[in-house]
Amino acid sequence: MQEKLFQLVCPTCKQEFYIKRDTIINHEIDENLVPLVTNRSLFVHTCENCKTTFPLDYPVLYYFPKQRMYIGYQLKGEGSITSTYIEASTMDMFVEYVHILQDGIDLEAILPLKDGVLKGYTYDGKDDHQLFFRKEEQLICLKRRD
Ligand SMILES: [Zn+2]
Repeated sequence: MQEKLFQLVCPTCKQEFYIKRDTIINHEIDENLVPLVTNRSLFVHTCENCKTTFPLDYPVLYYFPKQRMYIGYQLKGEGSITSTYIEASTMDMFVEYVHILQDGIDLEAILPLKDGVLKGYTYDGKDDHQLFFRKEEQLICLKRRD
């Protein structure tokens, strides 16, 4: 966990204020932050003055110690030499990659597959035997190998 101070202006009431956010998340340690990524509440803020909720876009580094893997969002070039670093270019990709690793899926095996066969599909979870990928109303199921 590493906190960073952000200066914000509420888009509705124009109130200026500072908030603290975690920009480095460790999957093993920061248990309270894990669901905030998956449900995306990490990337919104509610104004204390007028209660408007607005999007908050900022760099995040998410570390999975067991897999020795970093998922970065807007953090090109950072990471560790002994761990694999994967840069997510959009917030959607960042949340998806974190979701895949949280489920214990081999991200490096899935990414080339997604680039080819699964273009436009988003990882949608797993059960005991298969992985699910969704594109609007279409669902693709792949047999698990891990
Ligand atoms: Zn406001």
